[in-house]
Amino acid sequence: MIILKTDDEIELLRQSNLLVGKTLAEVAKLIQPGVTTRQLDKVAEQFIRDNGAIPTFKGFPNPYGEPFPAAICTSVNSQVVHGIPNDIPLEEGDIVSVDCGTLMNGFCGDSAYTFCVGEVSPEHRQLLRVTKESLYKGIENAVHGKRLGDIGFAIQSHCEQFKYGVVREFVGHGIGKEMHEPPAVPNYGKRGTGIMLKKGMCIAIEPMITQADRKIFLENDGWSIRTRDNGFAAHFEHTVAIGLGKADILSSFEFIEQVLGDKVI
Ligand code: MG
Ligand code: MG
Repeated sequence: MIILKTDDEIELLRQSNLLVGKTLAEVAKLIQPGVTTRQLDKVAEQFIRDNGAIPTFKGFPNPYGEPFPAAICTSVNSQVVHGIPNDIPLEEGDIVSVDCGTLMNGFCGDSAYTFCVGEVSPEHRQLLRVTKESLYKGIENAVHGKRLGDIGFAIQSHCEQFKYGVVREFVGHGIGKEMHEPPAVPNYGKRGTGIMLKKGMCIAIEPMITQADRKIFLENDGWSIRTRDNGFAAHFEHTVAIGLGKADILSSFEFIEQVLGDKVI
């Protein structure tokens, strides 16, 4: 059952999601060659807790019941999502997708951003740019009276123009008191199909886009998802409330992009 949120509940969701955006900005300050994703995770977890929230990813179980060991997912290069922070230093030319979730005042935040490490090749910069653009094209369709398939269609058609792959096995989701609520929000679809979107629905839209083939596999750590062809992948995510005529974006890239300055793609 899809739980519609009141205006007051949407404001609580906004607070939790703004904290995610601020946390990702703290991470952005540190991303450079030589830093490890474990260092990023430590800073993120401390920042979330200092702000009176809980990192929802930490302890979240996979299908085997194994708890995720960190506060953020850090997925490097051909990792798509759910990468576990580790002690391997990031290198010049890497890309790293950082996904972060919080629980504050009973409501969840969930947002992700893919960062460049130092100078990144033009082809990988394009992958990031197109994936972020596709997120906003999806959001343009997150309005009362449209259908769920309109969001997926907008994302898929934009990315496929560039011959990129749209991951099918992982999708966006409803969000509220729980991090994952119905409905599933695919990044692919047909216009005019799927459930009708209604004011008060809150969803996380999160295109996971691969440079070439969309096939993926689960690594031996039980979490990390990687492309089979080892091509790079990007992931951008916003939590939004379905609005009348316009979506209300509850998370924010503003704090991140203030840190990135003229390096924003
Ligand atoms: Mg997320
Ligand atoms: Mg999500």
